[in-house]
Amino acid sequence: MRTYALGVVPAPPRLLGSLHDVITVRDDLSFLSGYHSPQVDVSVRLNTNESPLPPPPGFVEELSKRVAGVAWNRYPDRMADQLRQAIAGRHEVSPDQIFVANGSNEVLQTVLLAYAGHGRRVACFEPGYQMHAQISRVVGADVVTFERGPDFALDPTRVAEFLADAQPSIVFLTSPNNPTGRSEPKEMIDIICASCDCLLVVDEAYAEFGRWSALDEVADNRPVVVTRTFSKTWSMAAARLGYLVGPRAVVDSLWRTVLPYHLDAVTQLAGILALEYVDEMAHRVAAIVDERERVGLQIAELGLEVVPSDANFLLFSSGGRDASAVWSALVDRQVLVRDCSGWPGLSGWLRVTIGTSAENDVFLNALKEIVNE
Ligand code: PMP
Repeated sequence: MRTYALGVVPAPPRLLGSLHDVITVRDDLSFLSGYHSPQVDVSVRLNTNESPLPPPPGFVEELSKRVAGVAWNRYPDRMADQLRQAIAGRHEVSPDQIFVANGSNEVLQTVLLAYAGHGRRVACFEPGYQMHAQISRVVGADVVTFERGPDFALDPTRVAEFLADAQPSIVFLTSPNNPTGRSEPKEMIDIICASCDCLLVVDEAYAEFGRWSALDEVADNRPVVVTRTFSKTWSMAAARLGYLVGPRAVVDSLWRTVLPYHLDAVTQLAGILALEYVDEMAHRVAAIVDERERVGLQIAELGLEVVPSDANFLLFSSGGRDASAVWSALVDRQVLVRDCSGWPGLSGWLRVTIGTSAENDVFLNALKEIVNE
């Protein structure tokens, strides 16, 4: 390097044969493929468990009015006080027990950043929600998996043995479970908490469609948290909003872990407004549950196995056919479902989200054609 009176002459830019000569992704991440649901341009999209309907009439107009009052040059309310108050009011807990973030995925990531990481273990039940294991690995934790038994059920004795042996820092229990749709027995909470010193995360992304909630198990002296989302029941997948209800000490550690001002002002306003439509949403949930029962019966009448569901989707078998071929044949008929056959323990299974009655009919007619071919 030559120095002149005016300072250091920068070296000419280094031209690289490949970026890999200089920097590579962490060894423990290079195998990850990333999580995505293939999006195909079809008219009936039943692959990502969203609400089939936009928010209720009036929502967008009212939100636009409220957005007009946002102080755009200022950072948003860092602790999202009003939103947390609205959520706390709905669940009859204190706002100090609520953490909010960009979708429940960011809530899960924050929990993992705070309580998992290198040298710690995370326990997942398979088949289950793929992001639990994925985010755990991204934060550097080791993932230990427990395979479900017949009918995708969890055997309590085997679960207790597995956890006592693995001693994970975090256990994920999804109820109703994605992608199987079943609610877990509520007793699993006590069994898990008694088996290891862990934080139990009950992922309730679909709880509004289910039979029970772990919310009444949340207390300051119990290591249990519940996560929820606005992406399904609340027709707000586009806005990215999720939350956690948990002991104050856990919530406090999450606020210290997450980035400052992570949740923008518009999302906060949208969440507050959504909670003004509780009755309308309960009505919609009831309609989806009715449709779920109708669709489930009709799939079964085609001779395919259907897992009883407490969520807004159904897991069904391809009946001995190649599941990926069934998926493609549905796409050819303008229907997109989720091909789960490559997931652990799900060879031969597909998942369909419950849509509007009209969308469900298109799906059922297409499936009938494929089965009768
Ligand atoms: N948990 C489960 C079980 C889910 O199925 C999903 C969405 N597919 C999420 C969490 C994440 O939801 P979001 O980030 O949209 O709130």
